[in-house]
Amino acid sequence: MTRQPALFVGHGSPMTMITDNPERAAMEELGRRLPRPDAILAVTAHWETRGETRLTSGTGPHTVHDFRGFPQALFDMHYPAPGSPDLARRVAALIGSTAVLDDAHGFDHGVWGTLLPMFPAADIPVVAMSVDMALGGEGHRRMGERLAPLRDENVLILGSGNVIHNLALWHESRGTQPDWALDFRLRTNVALLERQDEALVGFEPGDRAAAAAVNSGEHYVPLLYPLGSRQADDAVALFNDTLDGALSMTSVLWGDASLVAGL
Ligand code: ZN
Repeated sequence: MTRQPALFVGHGSPMTMITDNPERAAMEELGRRLPRPDAILAVTAHWETRGETRLTSGTGPHTVHDFRGFPQALFDMHYPAPGSPDLARRVAALIGSTAVLDDAHGFDHGVWGTLLPMFPAADIPVVAMSVDMALGGEGHRRMGERLAPLRDENVLILGSGNVIHNLALWHESRGTQPDWALDFRLRTNVALLERQDEALVGFEPGDRAAAAAVNSGEHYVPLLYPLGSRQADDAVALFNDTLDGALSMTSVLWGDASLVAGL
């Protein structure tokens, strides 16, 4: 039996999808290399809930264009992958009483913005999953632990967000690499590679770099789901580890590191 890797993919600006950039090229190449999953569970920064974890359970979730002020080309994009009510029910059973099936919700751009480059045929069933912002960091990581059996059921667990994401600081910092962001990127990368989970699930109140990087939290916490699904024999490998101002594209694979070699 083949175990699926687990992935965190930085999705960045929607413009990533319609401009030439090395990050999207890496996503496209990774999609060609990955063992084909039977289904994908996408934990997305763009679906925040409180006290519950929602799962798309429709047979054909629609594409949500949840952004404003971007070129029409982005609004013309669609990701018509089928849903998977079976996977939604399976995930709900793993999560427990806080899971809610939602047959009306669609795929936001955290979902389709990462899947379109990786799986452009849109022929693999997808379930999108919200982030329960009432959970603390350790709570999110534990949710990932509960999802781990899916990897042996040929389901790809994909977290979609950004490790460093602060839109309030974006314009003033664009084109630079602020010290706080370099500091946060270095220590989160070390913690990921050295499996120091405690350094990833919580930060001290006076930690200014973490406060600036994690900010409102919703783009950071999708990292903690694939992290929580980590198995003892997983290698950990980084790719797309780029930083522009208050936004990093750092992405992580747990599993066979050769899948991201050279990306
Ligand atoms: Zn986003």
